[in-house]
Amino acid sequence: MVHRVYNFNPGPATLPLPVLERVQAEFLDYRGTGMSIMESSHRAPEFDAINESAMALVKELMGVPDGYSVFFVQGGASLQFAMLAMNFLGEGKFGDYINTGTWSRKAIKEANIVGKARVAGSSEEVNFTRIPGDDEINLDPAAEYVHITSNNTIAGTQFHTFPDTGDVPLLCDASSDIMSKVIDVSKFGLIYAGAQKNLGPSGVVVIIIRDDLIEKGRTDIPTLLQYRTQAAKKSLYNTPNSFGIYFLNCYLEYVKENGGVAAVEAVN
Ligand SMILES: *Cc1c(COP(=O)(O)O)cnc(C)c1O
Repeated sequence: MVHRVYNFNPGPATLPLPVLERVQAEFLDYRGTGMSIMESSHRAPEFDAINESAMALVKELMGVPDGYSVFFVQGGASLQFAMLAMNFLGEGKFGDYINTGTWSRKAIKEANIVGKARVAGSSEEVNFTRIPGDDEINLDPAAEYVHITSNNTIAGTQFHTFPDTGDVPLLCDASSDIMSKVIDVSKFGLIYAGAQKNLGPSGVVVIIIRDDLIEKGRTDIPTLLQYRTQAAKKSLYNTPNSFGIYFLNCYLEYVKENGGVAAVEAVN
């Protein structure tokens, strides 16, 4: 191949050539099984090994502490806007939101459908050209959670430090900067990210969630939308995006072989 084009205009964006080549090489016959991983059952040992590896590599590469679960869901980051609100809000409950652009706004909109989103800080009046400073953020300790968008894909702004939310769990849409730099996962109750910008193909979302929040989630919402279902079944309650998880695992192995997230950060 003489000329590769780098797409910096996500949704789906540039992936490392060695990862694409590996997926291509393995596509017709996955490790001597005589079939593509795309033809393999999601309950087959081959896929199970891939799924376990992908979960373990997210934990290893991001330094996820004990007491957190990692799993993969569908519906894009956009479904998470609703799903987290469905799990943690309800009658008389609210989440604090920091409004830093298009994606925060969408998260706020969904939360207001199932509960209440309280805007605790915003840079809307300056057209989202910066992140609100700590002195512009008014958190309410009675909130169920605080929600931020760590990297504002359209506005072009990024949190370089995270707000101190005390005992209130910090929930983060990291769709466009997950694994682009080293972060301290222990500061977060939930990190979610659509894979397609940084980690693999579209259709798979990485969830990193503190176990006490899984338990706290509501039980009177559809089964598939409860974090506990996905956590207990390790993403296999229903048929997962097996190609997405397979590809994600190829990418994570590539990152590990090339020095981990710190090396990605250095390149960035
Ligand atoms: C792209 C993007 C989304 C939307 O992701 P989908 O997977 O398409 O739902 C949400 N949040 C951020 C920060 C994004 O960059």
